[in-house]
Amino acid sequence: MDNMQMYAQLGISEKVYRFGEEVLASLRERFDAIDSTAEYNQGKVIAAMQKNRVNAGCFAGTTGYGYNDTGRDTLERVYADTFHTEAALVRPSIVCGTHALAVALSANLLPGDELLSPVGRPYDTLEEVIGIRKSTCSLAEYGVTYDEVALLPDGSIDYEGIRAKIKPQTKMVTIQRSKGYATRPTLSVQQIGELIAFIKGIRSDIICMVDNCYGEFVEPIEPSDMGADMIVGSLIKNPGGGLAPIGGYICGTAKCVERCAYRLSAPGLGQEVGANLGLMTSLYQGFFLAPTVTAGALKGAIFAANIYEKLGYRCVPNSTESRHDIIQAVELGSEEAMVAFCAGIQAAAPVDSYVTPVPWAMPGYDNDVIMAAGAFIQGSSIELSADGPIREPFAVYFQGGLTWYHAKLGILMSLQKMVEAGLVTL
Ligand SMILES: *Cc1c(COP(=O)(O)O)cnc(C)c1O
Repeated sequence: MDNMQMYAQLGISEKVYRFGEEVLASLRERFDAIDSTAEYNQGKVIAAMQKNRVNAGCFAGTTGYGYNDTGRDTLERVYADTFHTEAALVRPSIVCGTHALAVALSANLLPGDELLSPVGRPYDTLEEVIGIRKSTCSLAEYGVTYDEVALLPDGSIDYEGIRAKIKPQTKMVTIQRSKGYATRPTLSVQQIGELIAFIKGIRSDIICMVDNCYGEFVEPIEPSDMGADMIVGSLIKNPGGGLAPIGGYICGTAKCVERCAYRLSAPGLGQEVGANLGLMTSLYQGFFLAPTVTAGALKGAIFAANIYEKLGYRCVPNSTESRHDIIQAVELGSEEAMVAFCAGIQAAAPVDSYVTPVPWAMPGYDNDVIMAAGAFIQGSSIELSADGPIREPFAVYFQGGLTWYHAKLGILMSLQKMVEAGLVTL
């Protein structure tokens, strides 16, 4: 049996398969560049593991207080060395990305301080952390104020606007690398570096934090290589490599990370406590696999952009743009197309492939939302998934894929469902 017959068995028609192969033929050079970045990043991770003498003892489970947990402490050294920071907090007790960001913010902002977002409105869940939307226990409730500077209409950074908004009480800036569910461009590490240099040039003691979600290992350098005081993210995205079942990280200066540790556990306890509950193997092995897993997801995103752009749909980023995160938005133009696309992603999954995603009224959203995911780790978005609100421009946000081949199948299956629904003719 050849590959085409295997795809036929999975439900992909010859026409869809051939269309995919034609698109792929034009992407070899870009895929080579992605592989080269993955190879470089793989070296960074292995070097950090070797330097810190990772050994079987690191994988032992601990319980209770978790004093002298060498597995946990060594993993934090591995993260710190990979991302070139003085310190790192990498914990299963950080329950998600929002939690990691909330810890980093609340640990380093005191009453009277101001937080500035120089790249527009931050990710939805941070609105309640900051208090942009009124919320119990928000930073606003503790007397921390907030200001923001929108990106310019062309998506570039409004430097003069930022200069005008930096006040004596501005203590920290939060820079979101990924576009999240906005249509602004994702920032490159280079752009983030320039922004940090500009801010430090105005006042060197302003803490620069980067929300690094979905960006890890996409480029050979991270924002921490470009002057960020803290980079923050989720382990059920890129750096968990699909194996971490939970967790978040904060890597940065010793001073900032120490405060985060005290905020996460308790003043006086800090980083010394926190049993690993037997999760260390997954966290180490996931981090080890993360560069290649991220590369696979990136290939999937580029493949999707090239397929759908060729069919006349607007893609963000477009088919040729350089990539700084793993998210791909495709504007499908109708609810039917979103449903068909998501049905394909779901049907290609190793888990829950037999269910059909339908739009539903998710709490906290104005419109119905459709979501497709068949993941080993619940809610993991380094695994192949797609979602989007049912409203203009009817865009699906597509990300992940633990292997390139699974991402490829998912995209071909989405196209297959679009063809079957009569929405696309090849
Ligand atoms: C995913 C994400 C977060 C955090 O989300 P969680 O679901 O809490 O992990 C924050 N910022 C951005 C840009 C994200 O993509």
